[in-house]
Amino acid sequence: MRYVILADIHSNLIALEAVLRDLKRRGGFDRLWCLGDTVGYGPWPGECIDLLRTLDHAAVAGNHDWAAVDKTSLDPFNAEAAAACRWNAGRLEERHRSYLASLPQVAVEGEFTLVHGSPQDPLWEYVLDVRAAEHSFDALTTPHCLVGHAHLPLLFLRGLQDGPARMVVPQPGEPLALDGGRWLFNPGAVGQPRDGDPRASYALYDAEARTFSLYRMEYDVAAVQREMARVGLPRRMAQRLGQGW
Ligand code: ZN
Repeated sequence: MRYVILADIHSNLIALEAVLRDLKRRGGFDRLWCLGDTVGYGPWPGECIDLLRTLDHAAVAGNHDWAAVDKTSLDPFNAEAAAACRWNAGRLEERHRSYLASLPQVAVEGEFTLVHGSPQDPLWEYVLDVRAAEHSFDALTTPHCLVGHAHLPLLFLRGLQDGPARMVVPQPGEPLALDGGRWLFNPGAVGQPRDGDPRASYALYDAEARTFSLYRMEYDVAAVQREMARVGLPRRMAQRLGQGW
């Protein structure tokens, strides 16, 4: 089985379509794991949900997904993120709202726990350092965890004994073997990368080979920026897509 791992699509349909085209070129996949924030920031929330729902997938709720359907507060958002979230909410039809509202905060798929933020705070916590990763490992009921929310490709490793964790920044196209230890993995963001590389980020997990591969895919950023300007989404939010932050 080949699993594709996507996080933080953020209503960026053009990036999502580019990733799906890239996957087809790489031989496709059997199941998709979506780590939340399918909506928010970008201009195509309903279209991203509709496309995702055509694929065999498991998904969890992100903070933007639930804020768009009033299941969590907009208070922690900065002004631009809140404005974009309200705009996204206004574009949703009933089928989109019920899909987002029905997403669980945590999903378990075999050896993996899927969450948007962290196992202890699934909607809001960023796992950005070894300390947060160790707390997450302690809270898990499965060996491994897949997270989004940080918009950065990151891997935290821990031995089978509960020792210290270490952090690795995965590189595109270099497969990482899951051998022995425990993993907490973030595939980076499809729709709004924040590591200075504007290309869409995603990962494939090959369950037979037990390897993870990270990929980056170029997409038409200018077309997304034009649509964001046309519908009146915050300018700075469109600009940042071009710089990858
Ligand atoms: Zn996000």
